[in-house]
Amino acid sequence: MPKLVLIYFLLLFSNLLYSQTLSAIDNAANPEESKAKACHIGHVKLLDDFPTARLDWCERIGDKGFRIKLKPENVPINSSPWYAFKIVAQQPTKVQIFMEVDGYKHRYLPKLSSDLSTWSSVEFHDEGKVRSFMVEANVSPRYISGQEIVDNQTYIDWASNLNDTKNIHYQILGRSVQGRPLYKIESKTSGTDKWLVLLGRMHPPEVTGALALFPFVETVLADTTLAKRFRAKYNILIVPNINPDGVAMGNWRHNANGVDLNRDWKTFEQPEVQSVHAYLQELIQAGATLSMAVDFHSTRKDVFYTMPSNYGVNQPFLVENWLNSLDAKVDDFRVIQQPGNNPGKGVFKQYFADFYQSHAITYEMGDNTNRNFIDELAQVAANSLMETMLENNKELKGD
Ligand SMILES: [Zn+2]
Repeated sequence: MPKLVLIYFLLLFSNLLYSQTLSAIDNAANPEESKAKACHIGHVKLLDDFPTARLDWCERIGDKGFRIKLKPENVPINSSPWYAFKIVAQQPTKVQIFMEVDGYKHRYLPKLSSDLSTWSSVEFHDEGKVRSFMVEANVSPRYISGQEIVDNQTYIDWASNLNDTKNIHYQILGRSVQGRPLYKIESKTSGTDKWLVLLGRMHPPEVTGALALFPFVETVLADTTLAKRFRAKYNILIVPNINPDGVAMGNWRHNANGVDLNRDWKTFEQPEVQSVHAYLQELIQAGATLSMAVDFHSTRKDVFYTMPSNYGVNQPFLVENWLNSLDAKVDDFRVIQQPGNNPGKGVFKQYFADFYQSHAITYEMGDNTNRNFIDELAQVAANSLMETMLENNKELKGD
């Protein structure tokens, strides 16, 4: 598939849609997570009273303009300026937004939604460091955000649907800094001691990684012959949302302690990382083999950060075989494998290789990669990983 520009579908307002929008907002406005900061110009309001919202600073410019500034939760930080807010007005009003980032570069392209499920891209204009765009405000709120909003509730709704249809265990693994639950989803077959580990959302704004994790997980938990064969040989541990505080707070990258979780897999100082590490240790104590891990992220392009095949892990060619087969299966798409070894940095894939002598990869989707393609690629990737791991299992057992 060629590198497509984002395609979003525009929704038109209707009375029916309006009532759906209100109920969606009621659900989103969990009082525990609301921040209720607002910027007003007469009857026009910018609001950040919903989970994932981020509106750091705002001022009025003239009659129908707002200047907003994006600021990180703390520094130093990898640049990933996130924003999410909603706009409402008592009557239809065209509003111009001027957006700046304090000390960093813009990353996420503005998107608009009335219902938090269908998003359209917003035309913008860059002049120097200022990004500007027009929004039509109305009585029913419209959301403006750097990416589609995938909040903590999204994971709960998604996972409970998995639970409804399949015999999958869904439990609390631990708690975040602010006490939010960290959920694990598990597929466990008695007599099976090999594990595939899937991890997501260490970095809150990396939504395209989440958009890949959902179909990937659905594919490995599906009722297909391949997935059933796979689950008979391998257990699966999924921690889809390891940074729920960062997600709720609309953080650029860190957890509620201001720490990058993907630098903590060496010192294990953060409760989110501690919970997963302790559980993996528990599995090992019980005789498990952790065979492979995939950690979902986003960056500027689609790339797979791997451990080098000569790093000394078991099944040294597992990842190369998998990604080569993925490359062969997807037309007009080149799978970029980027092997790397960063000892002492506290990155999850390195931790997994060092502690368990197994491959782990960082599965990175581009910020602007076509959403349908992310979905399609994740399904093919999940199927080809299962095939490759089953093939390896056969060789190891000699059957
Ligand atoms: Zn990341």
